[in-house]
Amino acid sequence: MKIKKLETFTKPFVSFLKITSDTGAEGYGQMSTYHADITAQIFHKQVAPWVLGKSCNSLEDIEDLENLVLEKEHKFPGSYILRAIAGLDTAWWDMKGKLENKPVVSLINGNPGKLKVYGSSMKRDITPQEEADRFMKLEDECGISAFKFRLGSECGRNIDEWPGRSEEIIKIINKNLDPSSEKLVDANSCFTPKRAIELGHLLEENGINHYEEPCPYWEPEQTLEVTNALTIDVTGGEQDCDLRIWRDIINRKIVNIVQPDIMYMGGLTRALKVAKMAEEKSIICTPHAANLSLVTICTMHLLKAIPNAGKYLEFSIEGEDYYPWQKNLFLNNPFKIDDGKIMLSEDPGWGITINPQWIEESNYAVSKID
Ligand SMILES: [Mg+2]
Repeated sequence: MKIKKLETFTKPFVSFLKITSDTGAEGYGQMSTYHADITAQIFHKQVAPWVLGKSCNSLEDIEDLENLVLEKEHKFPGSYILRAIAGLDTAWWDMKGKLENKPVVSLINGNPGKLKVYGSSMKRDITPQEEADRFMKLEDECGISAFKFRLGSECGRNIDEWPGRSEEIIKIINKNLDPSSEKLVDANSCFTPKRAIELGHLLEENGINHYEEPCPYWEPEQTLEVTNALTIDVTGGEQDCDLRIWRDIINRKIVNIVQPDIMYMGGLTRALKVAKMAEEKSIICTPHAANLSLVTICTMHLLKAIPNAGKYLEFSIEGEDYYPWQKNLFLNNPFKIDDGKIMLSEDPGWGITINPQWIEESNYAVSKID
């Protein structure tokens, strides 16, 4: 079986990819979200030409092809090419699952079923009390029993969204949530080690056990200082997509929990490599999945398969006001939450159906061989 056709269906935030083999097998994947229109151009220019006509029967084949693209495009290391490769990789896994009539999770030694989620807030322009209120509503209505909220400001050079917000929200969330609910925070690269540790002690006192990206992620020495100073888990790695960097993060235990993003990594295949590396050092993997596009679906399959899976799936609680572009991507809403859990189905491949109307409205491009 060889790759015959690669079609993309693109809007500015999302680009889906369809792979077709010379035997007529098909699968759907997705490139990483945001500037997906640029990523789709990169796909057709720098990825598709190297893989069309090549064998794609086994995991070894697809791994080799992805490495080939990175070698041929070695002057362009970094995020965009991997965001594009994620489309190829996730479409291939879907095709493989459909050929074997198995969900992807079963192809990687896991099982479908229920998975606990943590409700992930993306907002900082929300007051601490408003944040607590919406978490309590989700406790009541959906049975969610773990929540992540935001500290500092994004890459904020040590400055809070507004003065005093970080301290206030830590205390208010702890006071308002059910005592059995787990609490996570994310500082998105905001703080110096001194400030991060100071806030870290407040997190310890308030029962928060997951402290994400306290310092600029590109300064691992700073993060390590925080990891070593605190008793709670320091976590990170969502932007990192270079396996050399991952090897360093894991070998030096820069963080307690690693958080690769399947789409930023270049797909499931490379994300599994990071999870495996972490497993060998007894490090937990709780991937990053910040929106309800295919990234969350793929992450469900991964979490149900790896032995070092974290306790829960990151599940964005933001709606149309924050993510208008994630509306109507799939048919039969695959993101239903019941009693704080999401269901990973037994359907083959990724187990989802992309909305035909969305496809109809998207921009089409194709790379193919005869
Ligand atoms: Mg984060």
